[in-house]
Amino acid sequence: MAQPTTRNYYKILGVTQKTSKADLKKKYRELAKKYHPDTNSGSKQAEDKFKIISEAYEVLSNAKKRKAYDRERSYQKRAPRRPKGQPNWNNPPSGFGKDPGSNQQGYEEPFAQEPEPVDPDMPTSGFDLQFMVDVPLPVAALGGTIPYNYEKYVRCEECEGTGTQGSDECLVCQGKQLIVRSVTLDVKIPPGVADQYTLAFIKEGGEGRNGGPPGELFLKVCVQPHPKFKRIKNDIIHEVTISAKLAEEGGSLEVETLNGTTTIQVEEETLVGEELRILGEGAAINWGKKRGDLIIKFNIEEE
Ligand SMILES: [Zn+2]
Repeated sequence: MAQPTTRNYYKILGVTQKTSKADLKKKYRELAKKYHPDTNSGSKQAEDKFKIISEAYEVLSNAKKRKAYDRERSYQKRAPRRPKGQPNWNNPPSGFGKDPGSNQQGYEEPFAQEPEPVDPDMPTSGFDLQFMVDVPLPVAALGGTIPYNYEKYVRCEECEGTGTQGSDECLVCQGKQLIVRSVTLDVKIPPGVADQYTLAFIKEGGEGRNGGPPGELFLKVCVQPHPKFKRIKNDIIHEVTISAKLAEEGGSLEVETLNGTTTIQVEEETLVGEELRILGEGAAINWGKKRGDLIIKFNIEEE
């Protein structure tokens, strides 16, 4: 994807070739302040834009670098460019939307409303995506891998992410460089993960444009109710119905565990609601270092 630099440093800083050195500096300071990572709570998009603004100023404020840049640009102007017309980037495929701590998309707004239009060749980070993932209780308790299917922007293969085919706009992506594609990711569920926990998958979000980095994927864990097991913190409760005879006389019984079966001894004269604790057969603790218990709770069949 190596491409010559076509970034318009003048547009990025909102200046023209005739802007004075003092005004250039002033403009740069304004933008740098606005997009400084410190004032944007570490937003990655802000950081990217800050870097580009700094890069633009570094070139335009240096007579030698600026001359070389102007020369390069005048060559590139002769090359065919894809037609203007901004796709609607404010409509990414999205999931449950507002999760505190990961809403970085609000950032796009102020930049898009600048009086100077945003340079379409500017590298832009891909969208962060947020979805829910249904996780069976045993997988949440012990960890595992789930194939997760979702839609995201990927690079258009037809035009190799350029948005153009020859001198025309790419028909497949309509010049957007990206297309929406259904993808499947093998999602690793950490052992003992809590319901509603948000897992982050770095760079698995939407593809960036013009070489910008991809966004992240955030998956909120939704532990599915299980027909047999209930989870209370790290313990798993399993209600088992036994016959009145077994309750009275006692005996061995095979019961289901999170990952198999085990045989327990039912004591004589077991009463309804009595519990038997099987140590270390519950949900993982501390991402798998320890495990809670499996608690068998007895129901007794009516005679
Ligand atoms: Zn294309």
